[in-house]
Amino acid sequence: MNPVNHVNLVNPVNVIMKFGGTSVADAEAMNRVLAIVRATLAGSPKDKPPVVVVSAMSKVTDRLIETGRVTTLGWGDQGATLLRELLERHIAVATGLVAGGALAGLIDTLRADFAALTDMVRAWAAAHEMTPRAHDELVAMGELASSRIVATAFADSGIPAVWVDARRVLVTDDEYTAALPDMDATCARTSELVAPKRAAGQVAVLGGFIGATAGGVTTTLGRGGSDYSAAIFGACLDVDEIQIWTDVDGMLAADPRVVSVPRLVPQLSFAEASELAYFGAKVLHPSTILPAISKNIPVRILNSRRPEVAGTRISADGRGDSGALTALACKRGVTVVDITSTRMLMAHGFLRRLFEVFERFKTPVDVVTTSEVSVSVTVDNTRRLDDVVANLTNFADVACEPEMAIVCIVGENLRSNPTLFGRAVNALAHVPLRLVSQAASRRNITFVLRDADVPEAMNRLHDEFFK
Ligand code: ADP
Ligand code: ASP
Ligand code: MG
Repeated sequence: MNPVNHVNLVNPVNVIMKFGGTSVADAEAMNRVLAIVRATLAGSPKDKPPVVVVSAMSKVTDRLIETGRVTTLGWGDQGATLLRELLERHIAVATGLVAGGALAGLIDTLRADFAALTDMVRAWAAAHEMTPRAHDELVAMGELASSRIVATAFADSGIPAVWVDARRVLVTDDEYTAALPDMDATCARTSELVAPKRAAGQVAVLGGFIGATAGGVTTTLGRGGSDYSAAIFGACLDVDEIQIWTDVDGMLAADPRVVSVPRLVPQLSFAEASELAYFGAKVLHPSTILPAISKNIPVRILNSRRPEVAGTRISADGRGDSGALTALACKRGVTVVDITSTRMLMAHGFLRRLFEVFERFKTPVDVVTTSEVSVSVTVDNTRRLDDVVANLTNFADVACEPEMAIVCIVGENLRSNPTLFGRAVNALAHVPLRLVSQAASRRNITFVLRDADVPEAMNRLHDEFFK
C-alpha cells in the first residue's frame, strides 16, 4: 500500500507545505515530496492548491558557506571548483527527475545561474572581500536551485506547478544574513505574485530562507530560515495550516541527537513551541511561530519519509497531558559571562549599563541570573564577545566560562504543578548546575551546566518525565 494515500490531511485543505533539506536531498527524496504534494492537491479545492516552499538540498548551504570562506581568502579557483561540484550535483538530481525538453531548459537555467555566481565569486576573491551582502547573494543559490528543480519536476509529472522567485515576494530589511521581513510589503507581493497563480489552480513553488530588500538586493533570514519563510507566506495567504515536513516524526520530547529514542509530542502550544525552538529544538526555526500566532494558524510538523504519521500539531490551545511536562531542549556550546560590579553593591544603573554593552555589540543573552553584586548571563553568539568584555571591564570584573550549555524544561503545566520543578532538580541531583532560572512566563525553567554533562542531564530528565 502506498503510504502517501494515508497522508494526514485531517481537515485542512488550504495549506502551505515546507520541505526541509533532507526532504529534497536527492531525486528519491524529491519523488517522495512529489507524491505527498500530489495527494494533498487531490484533497484541495481547485482554487486553493497547496503552496510549496523548499530548502536548499541537504548540505548545500554548508558548501556555499564554505565557498564564501575560501573566497574571503582570495581563493577564487577553489570557490569556482566548489560551485562546479554543486552545479553537477544539482544537474544529476534534475536528470533523475525530469526528462526531455524540460530537462534541457532546467539545466540551461542552472548553468546560467551558477555561471553568473562563479563570476561574482571570482570578483569577490580578487578583492579579498566577502561582505554580508555578498554572502547572502552566494548562499541564496541553494534555495534558488532546489526550488527550480522541484517546480520543474512537478510540472513534468503533471502537477500544475509554477516557480515563483521568492526574492520578489519576501521583502526584508537590509540586515544581511539575518534579515527581518516587512510583513505588509510581503503580503502585498504575495497577493500580487502568488495568490493569482493559486486561484488559477497552480501549485506555486518558492525557495525558503531567501528574500530581498525593497530595492531588490538579495537577503537571507538566517540558518534554518525556510520554516520562517513558509510561516510568513502562510500568514499572508491566510492558510488553514502551515506544514513543516522534515526528517523526524514531529517535535520530540528531547533532541534525538542527545537522547536516543525521545517520545513524540503530539500537540503543544505556540508559546511552548517558541521556547523549545529558541532553546535548541532545531526542528523549528525560532521565528516560525510569530506569523502563525498573528493569524492564529496551526503549525504541523510532519515526516516526509513517513507521511502517514500524524506528527505534531502546534496551536494556540495545544496542550500536553494534564499535569505533565511538554518537552526538553538543549542549547550547546554557550558561554557564561559573570559580571561583578566593581563599585560597592549593585549601583543604581548598573544593569542598564551592562545590557547596553551587549546591545551595542549585537550580542543577545539567553539566560540571566542576578545576585546583590553580580550578574551572570549566557551568550550563544561569541563573535563580538571580546568587545563586550573589554567594555564591561570599564565598570565591572568579568569572567567568561566557555563550553557550557543550557538545558531547559518546557510546559504550560509548570505554572500549575510545582512538583515538576522538584522532580527535575532531583533527576539532576548528580549533575553540577551552574545557574538555574525561571522566566516570567513560568512555562520554562532553564539549567545552565557544563556542555559535557548535557547527555547525562537530558537522558535523566527524559527518563524522569517521558519514560
Ligand atoms: P530540515 O532540514 O527539515 O529543516 P532540520 O535539520 O533543520 O531539518 O531539523 C530537524 C532536526 O532537528 C532533526 O533531524 C533533529 O535532529 C533535530 N532536533 C533537535 N531537537 C529536536 C526536537 N526536540 N524534536 C525534533 N527534532 C529535533
Ligand atoms: N538552507 C538554509 C540552511 O541550511 C535554510 C533552511 O534550510 O531552512 O540554513
Ligand atoms: Mg530546519
